[in-house]
Amino acid sequence: MGVEKTQEARVQAKLPELQHRNFRNDEFWRDIPGWSAVTRDEFADHRWQTKNSIRKIDQAKKILGKLLTEEVYQDMVEGQKITPMNIRITPYIFALIDWDNAADDPLRKQFLPLGSQFLEDHPFYLEDSLGEDDDSPVPMIIHRYPDKVLFLPTSICPVYCSYCTRSRLIGGSTESVEKETYGANQKNWEAAFDYLMKMPLIEDVVISGGDAYMLTPAQIEFIGESLLKIPHIRRVRFATKGIAIFPQKVLTDDAWLGALKKVHRLAISYGKQVVVHTHFSCPREITKWSQMAMDRLFQMGIIVRNQAVLQAGVNDKVEDMVLLTRALSYLNVQPYYVYQHDMVPGCEHFRTTLREAVELEKAVRGTTAGFNTPTFVCDLPGGGGKRHVASYEYYDEENGISVWRAPYVKPNEYFLYFDPIHKLSAEAQERWRDKEQHQVMIDAAVEKSGVKAKLNG
Ligand code: SF4
Repeated sequence: MGVEKTQEARVQAKLPELQHRNFRNDEFWRDIPGWSAVTRDEFADHRWQTKNSIRKIDQAKKILGKLLTEEVYQDMVEGQKITPMNIRITPYIFALIDWDNAADDPLRKQFLPLGSQFLEDHPFYLEDSLGEDDDSPVPMIIHRYPDKVLFLPTSICPVYCSYCTRSRLIGGSTESVEKETYGANQKNWEAAFDYLMKMPLIEDVVISGGDAYMLTPAQIEFIGESLLKIPHIRRVRFATKGIAIFPQKVLTDDAWLGALKKVHRLAISYGKQVVVHTHFSCPREITKWSQMAMDRLFQMGIIVRNQAVLQAGVNDKVEDMVLLTRALSYLNVQPYYVYQHDMVPGCEHFRTTLREAVELEKAVRGTTAGFNTPTFVCDLPGGGGKRHVASYEYYDEENGISVWRAPYVKPNEYFLYFDPIHKLSAEAQERWRDKEQHQVMIDAAVEKSGVKAKLNG
């Protein structure tokens, strides 16, 4: 009896560590006044999710009724005047938002920005922060690493994220930004396939955009089969945020899943790989629906990896990142990358310092098996590619300037990443207010780094 009690006490003490296995399975959407009568079967239907996705603030107001305070409503209206991203949010994620505490909610922050939360962009922000346009030999192809390309056949997504790194292209024009988006049109992909066929070094193709969820089953099959037939292409990755924000599609859109399954089987028959990359940001996105969707993919033999973006107020706390990592591992999603936030417009409030990323990585490492521990990377502004957050050449923490190299990708160049100014000391913020000090601070950091190269770009 005494031994049993001791064991029980040990289990009880460890219970917080088992939190990642508790997946929400209640009918949470019924708390939203406009959806109080929606049944589980209706909520499970991918067509219902798409049809009822929120596209306008006034639509949100109507669905939420008294749950939306006038203050938050007005703030969201102001947010729409500033953000470079349109609104699109699935009922699944919309209903998971804690509307009693909307201002601080990590899900609301990602998709429905408040005007009051925006900060002035960093002086060195770039619309194309990663220099993708410079590494694009033909439309919709980004070719930076010798054996890997990014293929962007679509510019639309099932949700629009406020922190999107391709806000210059994705989701249509907004009140503040004119965009030339291109939808998902097969006729426009010919040059991309021609390029891939002519480049024998390419083995790895990431299909992104936009989001592969928005490709039709016929397009999934066409892209998958066309790529797999190219002899030198060995690995195809379909990138979609869908599993995180719209798991119902995996569960009920049999045509879409059937197309993925067909392409996956074809890959195996060729001795090649087709995998899925997804994009969970924080533990609150994970419910029983996510688990059911992942079980379905896992039983089909499809490997899923996760790429999260580090965002202040969303996933920058150790306990949230550990919980996310463990929950993903439990669902058979490999936590692959956590990205330092890119220096794109409208995202200053989301960005963390490099030091915060390094410390977070340190805290997460050791909490689970190494293969399930995400690599924290900074995708270098200007196109140096992804580098481990602790692999900088020099870091002037006082002024928030880090100096980097990417010896294989661009051997004769160096790269700079800048911390968000509002997180620096009052003295450093003062220096950043003086434009003449910018180059002085940068030159000092570069000199201390000892790097002998030219600035990228
Ligand atoms: S799903 Fe990806 S591409 Fe689409 S808006 Fe979000 S971050 Fe951008």
